[in-house]
Amino acid sequence: MVNVRHPRCADPDCKRQPSFGKAGGKTAVYCVVHKEPDMVDVVNNYQRQGKKRKARE
Ligand SMILES: [Zn+2]
Repeated sequence: MVNVRHPRCADPDCKRQPSFGKAGGKTAVYCVVHKEPDMVDVVNNYQRQGKKRKARE
């Protein structure tokens, strides 16, 4: 089981939850504020690709 204990942005002073990481990776390291320009929203991308859910847009 994966026990993720409240992941936080890699910025030491930031308490946001990260959702951005390197493209192709599954680990989010930075929040939207501290992400680097080439980072992508891995949380949403992973959910979209990993599980087939009904699209609700
Ligand atoms: Zn941050």
